[in-house]
Amino acid sequence: MPFCPNCKLEFEVSVKNCSDCGTELVTSLHEKIILDEDNFILLTVCTEMYEAEFIKANLESADINAFILSKQDRNYPFLGTIKIFVKKEDKNSARDYLENIIKQSPSTEEE
Ligand SMILES: [Zn+2]
Repeated sequence: MPFCPNCKLEFEVSVKNCSDCGTELVTSLHEKIILDEDNFILLTVCTEMYEAEFIKANLESADINAFILSKQDRNYPFLGTIKIFVKKEDKNSARDYLENIIKQSPSTEEE
């Protein structure tokens, strides 16, 4: 069943893009993306959701589809890891872009 990684909605098999946000649908939101190494690679791992959303938004502004997989432990939310996947074909541009995003990141530890 196709799945929108953005809205977390399921669609008919014939649907290719989310009717809500236009995002390209994935087969499954969960571990299948990780296992689908023919198409997706792990770009980076974050510990904070806002960080992951920031990277995703930046990648998407560069026409790179990014998928966030969040696995947080309910009892220990701070131990969760948030993985960002990109399509294999976008790997190199996504990595270049990621370096720039990190350099430009406005979040400073000391303020
Ligand atoms: Zn959507």
